[in-house]
Amino acid sequence: MSQKVRVRFAPSPTGPLHIGGVRTALYNYLFAKKNNGDFILRIEDTDSQRFVQGAEEYIIEALTWLGIEFDEGTHLGGAYAPYRQSDRRDIYKKYVDILLEKGAAYIAFDSPQELEAKRASVPNFQYDASTRNEMRNSLTLTKEEVQKLIDEGNQYVVRFKIDAGQEVIVNDIIRGEVKYNSSVLDDKVLYKSADNLPTYHLANIVDDHLMEITHVIRGEEWLPSAPLHVLLYEAFGWKDTMPQFAHLPLLLKPEGNGKLSKRDGDRLGFPVFPLEWKDPKTSEISSGYRESGYLPEAVVNFLALLGWNPGNDQEIMSMDELIQLFSLEKCSKSGAKFDYEKGKWFNHQYIQQKPNAEIAKLFYPLLEENGIDVSLDYIEKVVSLVKERVNFVKELWGQSSFFFVAPAAYDEKVVKKRWKEDSPTQMAELAGVIDSIGDFSSHNQEEVVKGWIEAKGYHLGNIMNAFRLAIVGESKGPHMFDITEAIGKEETVKRLETAIREIKPL
Ligand code: GLU
Repeated sequence: MSQKVRVRFAPSPTGPLHIGGVRTALYNYLFAKKNNGDFILRIEDTDSQRFVQGAEEYIIEALTWLGIEFDEGTHLGGAYAPYRQSDRRDIYKKYVDILLEKGAAYIAFDSPQELEAKRASVPNFQYDASTRNEMRNSLTLTKEEVQKLIDEGNQYVVRFKIDAGQEVIVNDIIRGEVKYNSSVLDDKVLYKSADNLPTYHLANIVDDHLMEITHVIRGEEWLPSAPLHVLLYEAFGWKDTMPQFAHLPLLLKPEGNGKLSKRDGDRLGFPVFPLEWKDPKTSEISSGYRESGYLPEAVVNFLALLGWNPGNDQEIMSMDELIQLFSLEKCSKSGAKFDYEKGKWFNHQYIQQKPNAEIAKLFYPLLEENGIDVSLDYIEKVVSLVKERVNFVKELWGQSSFFFVAPAAYDEKVVKKRWKEDSPTQMAELAGVIDSIGDFSSHNQEEVVKGWIEAKGYHLGNIMNAFRLAIVGESKGPHMFDITEAIGKEETVKRLETAIREIKPL
């Protein structure tokens, strides 16, 4: 294909973007960049009933946070503007008329009540070739009657006229040939006079055509719409420029049974949205990956592998590597289990990879919250010592508070186990030893302290455990002498003295 690749992400602003939608956007982006193509953001807001204030801004903010960038869109403009369907109303009417003129669509006047009555009386009622002749539409009414109804101001819809019994083939890059019988499709509503707007199906096809979209990459839930879309392309005579389809596998519950939903996140305690979202109506807050402490690179890497893999075991990939390696052919057909633990693992990996100075900057506000005011250099040093113990930046405080403040209390269980009868005298002696050390590097301290332990015939474990209790307040933390090197001699001695005074053997 010599044509420039153009793909679009076409969300409906009906609420916060679900993590599955983020994956769809990501795959579109990777595919576009891999093929030197364009990536377009089109907002499909033709269903005014479902419109939610703030959803479009949320989508843009979330994808920007993740580094998923568009070439054209509502927020950027572009040669095919406007990109918001509600701003394109005037465009669609013409295409509705084309289908009406061709006899590929017809006008229907059935009121919601009439349709309801029909549904109640006919089991499995479907508005299609088998029933349309019993309904109130331009196929059963005369031209004059139709015109009269319109002139009188009656509301109507335009329906797509689908011939029964045809084979419709959807060529899908991921799924191959998917065949449908047109008899299963109903005569979908393409346009509603009431709001002078097309429905999703018509607007979607017309815009993909006008915006010269070459590939439609979207979630599997849209596969059932694909045969209808193929028929629409045929009806318009656009079959030659029809985009290629790729329907991405579903994201499944962590247990693998069924589609991932917001409820799974609530039930298992993980976010299903990229950013925190406050429902404008109920004020209910849903958690987001950003606010939960995920690094955007980790989220991207995690999502990239939910439904695709590079064909080998490589797991850690930057956005640039993903772009190089991505292909739709390597996407899987079967659903991808949403393994949330793996998401945490990715975050852990990215924290380890990120320069300590950058992590220190992310940690800084948390320290401020805890009333700590120290240099970034010091924070960077602490980060280097404890980061391997955390999955999230916010966990750093719990793992390192003793680098910044002396313990306020001593863990009772540890006291019981580690603070022996002779601990106070030994710790007093140790304080003297520490005080005498000139070169306070971790390495030198270790040599001096261990030499003293050996000379005295003390038990290494007993000394070091009591020492840690005095400095940290419990039995955790990195290498003891790395801690004391960081907090310094004076503070080390002070904490030993406090511990001797405060800890009451249990
Ligand atoms: N507006 C649809 C959505 O909300 C677009 C589906 C498609 O990509 O065709 O996902």
